[in-house]
Amino acid sequence: MRILILSKDKILFILSLLGLGLTLAFLAFSLLRITPAESKLKQTTILIDPGHGGIDGGTQDAHGHLEKDINLAIALKIRDYLRQSGVNVAMTREDDRELAAYEPGRSGRHRRDLSSRIERAKKVKALFLVSIHCDWSADPKRRGMVAFYYYRNPAGKNLAFAIQEELNKIQPTPKKAAPGRYFILEQPGVTGVIIEVGFLSHPEEAALLQRPDYQNKIAFGIARGILQVLPALISGQDPTAPAS
Ligand SMILES: [Zn+2]
Repeated sequence: MRILILSKDKILFILSLLGLGLTLAFLAFSLLRITPAESKLKQTTILIDPGHGGIDGGTQDAHGHLEKDINLAIALKIRDYLRQSGVNVAMTREDDRELAAYEPGRSGRHRRDLSSRIERAKKVKALFLVSIHCDWSADPKRRGMVAFYYYRNPAGKNLAFAIQEELNKIQPTPKKAAPGRYFILEQPGVTGVIIEVGFLSHPEEAALLQRPDYQNKIAFGIARGILQVLPALISGQDPTAPAS
């Protein structure tokens, strides 16, 4: 067996080479990690909006389960998925509350509630807002998830189509993202989509919407759809530009 004996100087030389190598590797790693797209991502905020809340329960299923609670459960899961992917997420609410209080003698609480959601989007300079709702129909056979957008907002339309594609992987019958006339989508300076995650009037879908595993699937699909269009929306495209 041959024993290698190194002088003190040689050992110091080898150690300093190792140190230099490690420093270079660390620098290269840091440079690769912080790309321009990533630094833009760090400056970007997305607003997740669980519809209704507090005194406003939204619609409900045959057992009295309220839409506001389903919306919140799914929205919180979307928030967590996006944050895990490094996206800044703001929420209009993270618990059971309305955004505009009922004031005796004053009408228009619902409109004020919606307006304060828009104000929040402007305040946090949200790239876009994603509003979560459940639907209801007198026809108990109607079911399915649909992403709605404002027809004059191409960024919103792209986002709705990307989310719809992911949601169609979960639901038995694929649906098409649709233009919708919603106050919250039509506000200038704010891009938004409304996701109707299912019909509480459909017994089977209503039961599914109570299940955390199903809520997780929906949240994961919505987060995936968002992440797919996010780079395009961040890089220069003006989300508020009206379609030609
Ligand atoms: Zn609703």
